Amino acid sequence: MKNGKIRTRTYILISLMLLLPLLAALYSPFLMVEGVKSGIITLSFLVFAVWLILSLFMGRSVSCGYTCPYGALQEILGGYTNKKPRSQRANKIRYPFAVLFIIIVSYSILKIGGLKGFDLLAPNGNPKLVILIPLFILTTGILSIIFGSRAFCKYICPQGVFLTIGTELGRKIKIPSLLLETNHNCSNCELCNKSCPMGLDVNYMVKNDTMDDLNCILCGECIKNCPKNVINYSFNIKD
Ligand code: SF4
Ligand code: SF4
Repeated sequence: MKNGKIRTRTYILISLMLLLPLLAALYSPFLMVEGVKSGIITLSFLVFAVWLILSLFMGRSVSCGYTCPYGALQEILGGYTNKKPRSQRANKIRYPFAVLFIIIVSYSILKIGGLKGFDLLAPNGNPKLVILIPLFILTTGILSIIFGSRAFCKYICPQGVFLTIGTELGRKIKIPSLLLETNHNCSNCELCNKSCPMGLDVNYMVKNDTMDDLNCILCGECIKNCPKNVINYSFNIKD
């Protein structure tokens, strides 16, 4: 049953990757920034706002784990590159990118005198985007091939930082949210480590009861691959 449910994710990822040329604008951070610079709220802005609200309850599962086509692309292309847990210190590299993102967006909004309205796909005709979006797709793909699954998510993505903050906020204000829970049947086979697209040391997390790692995108790959059924989803208030 659990495998059936989570296998669905594989089909979702493949579909997202194949549809990326069509979905690129919908999820594009560039479209969002270009829109904001013109005082316009775009569809990609709204998608991100929905992701942010959902992160309070669902962590990064709905966004990063199940619906981001760029994440899907990186996971599929980099799935065979990175099989060792990564250094936790490396996670911090993405924070300066998030700060830069905030500065650019805030400055743009102030300069234009505030957001003026909706025009969902307006900056689509912007010639810059015709170059930037394919370049972004190419860069995220190449980074994952070289540095492993979801390299861009792990080390650069500013949106991921905000979704992490949303996840932490939901847990801090004690609303029920999607979490990982474990039992004590672990055999230390480390198959969970090999399956984690975010390169987390899941075996360590299980042994030390730290399943609330904020770099976890709640994708469920460790659940699917654990032969002892040690890990599972729960929907609870975090202790
Ligand atoms: S710890 Fe498990 S649920 Fe979290 S990102 Fe890794 S594989 Fe996915
Ligand atoms: S896959 Fe399961 S049994 Fe193996 S180390 Fe991970 S939690 Fe333990």
